[in-house]
Amino acid sequence: MKELEPLNVDRVKSAYPDRWNKGTPGRALVKESDEKPGNFAVQRDGSDRWHECTITRYNGLLWGTCDCVGHTNHDDACSHLIAAYRLKQVLEEPFPTHKPQAITVEVRSVDQERADQHEQPTRQEGQA
Ligand SMILES: [Zn+2]
Repeated sequence: MKELEPLNVDRVKSAYPDRWNKGTPGRALVKESDEKPGNFAVQRDGSDRWHECTITRYNGLLWGTCDCVGHTNHDDACSHLIAAYRLKQVLEEPFPTHKPQAITVEVRSVDQERADQHEQPTRQEGQA
């Protein structure tokens, strides 16, 4: 998975309308993690694969990454990130705010940030 990078969804909308349209709500299944808001599993219509996406807002910018080949090889947001973004727009839900470099899908964000702040890596197991 690529590191989080700034997303310019308006640019995708104008420059890559096909990608934008593939992310139309209703044309993709989007599940957001309850434990890790801003982390999504996205499956586009016609695909049998789920992809993991992360979107966060930081410093006034939207940052994101996806594990798909398209996002790795092309610039800006892939159709999965667009799907997650557009669903949140429809629901009028905000994105979480984190420092982008702190986020990976493996990080248990809230616990991890608390642990970092206190510099005491207290692990709270059992809250799987
Ligand atoms: Zn993707």
